[in-house]
Parts: sequence; C-alpha cells; structure tokens
Amino acid sequence: MPSICENIQQIKSEIGNVELVVVSKYRNISELNDVYSCGHREFGENRVQELSAKAAQMPGDIHWHMIGHLQTNKVKYISGFIHLIQAVDSLKLLKKIDQEAQKHNRVINFLFQIHIADEESKYGLSPDGLRDIIASEEYLHFQNVQCLGLMGMATNTSDQNQIKAEFSQLNQLFTEHNPGNWDTLSMGMSNDYLLAVSEGSTCIRVGSKVFD
Ligand SMILES: *Cc1c(COP(=O)(O)O)cnc(C)c1O
Repeated sequence: MPSICENIQQIKSEIGNVELVVVSKYRNISELNDVYSCGHREFGENRVQELSAKAAQMPGDIHWHMIGHLQTNKVKYISGFIHLIQAVDSLKLLKKIDQEAQKHNRVINFLFQIHIADEESKYGLSPDGLRDIIASEEYLHFQNVQCLGLMGMATNTSDQNQIKAEFSQLNQLFTEHNPGNWDTLSMGMSNDYLLAVSEGSTCIRVGSKVFD
C-alpha cells in the first residue's frame, strides 16, 4: 500500500503548478506528522476546535487553511495565525474577521465560498449573494481582510458533465468578479480534482486520496 508521502507525490505530479491543500480533518497527529515529514506545509481543516488544537501541536511553519463553515463567535480562536479562510459566506462573518484581524495587526486572506452544487446546503453564497457583498459600501471599507478569490464544491455525483459544468460556472464567476488581484480558484477534492484542474482550478483540497 502506498504511503501518505507517496500519495502526496503522486497527486503533485498530476497537478503541475496547482496548489495542494492536504485536508487533515479527522486525522491524528501522527498522520499529520507524516504529511509534514514529506515536506508538505499546506493543511486544511473544517472545524475551529480541531484546527486550533492541531496547530498548537504541530510545527509553526504550517499554513493552516480553514475550509469549513466558520461561526462569527469562533473567528477569534484562529485569527492570530490562520493562513487562508477559504469559506467566507456572509458579510457578517467578513466584518468579524476584519475586526479580529485588526486586533492582531494583520491582514487575513480569504476566499468567498460559492454554492455551485445541485445539492441542499446551508453554506456558500449564491452568485447574487456574492455580487451584493462586493457591491456593498461596507465591503469597500474593510482594511484587515484581503480577498484572493473563490472556493466551491461540486455535486457529489458520478456525472462528469455535471461536475465539469459546475466548475466551469465557478471559473466564469471568478473571471467576472476578479478585480485584477485575485489569484486563487479553490476547487477539486479527491474524487474530482483532475476535472477541477482542467477547468482552471489553482488550488485543490484533498483528504481521502492522501490518507486512505
Ligand atoms: C473534507 C473536505 C475536502 C476533502 O475531501 P476528500 O473527498 O476527502 O478529498 C475538501 N474540501 C472541503 C470543504 C471539505 O470539507
């Protein structure tokens, strides 16, 4: 059976310059250390408590990506060190991140999460929701947050055409709203990252394909 490091190397060889975020949710510290020993530094977690507990136990040069829904009252636990918040889905949350970043005298980078899947989900902005935030007066005045682009998850289906259409839609939205300095289009997971890369992804988030 291939090791964690061999899996990472395999995925990296398939994706060229696209960034790989290893999704380490539910994995233990020993498994995270295997990833780290392989030279990998981009880690993704979807729960604040798990993320901060792991960050406290792992080396300080890791880039932590928050990839799950973030509650406003939990922003403070990660605002001092988080590398990229990939799942901003409301203006209220963004306002909170801006406030907390200010306390740490830093700028926090983030992505807007867009709901592209044909599935019920509480999270992710609609294209109109994204437009409304970007056009808002409040958004213009944030000083301690910096948008780098968009993130989205395709429907969990075997229909490749549907997945492709959803990634393509996200890429179009990215192009349409990019003010010029967005460089991150985060799409693609274990089951669909090759399709995501062919549709223009610059960042894939992979868990099971690395660890299982
Ligand atoms: C869990 C998760 C992933 C990784 O999923 P795999 O199928 O294990 O690769 C990627 N993105 C998000 C937002 C996740 O929650």
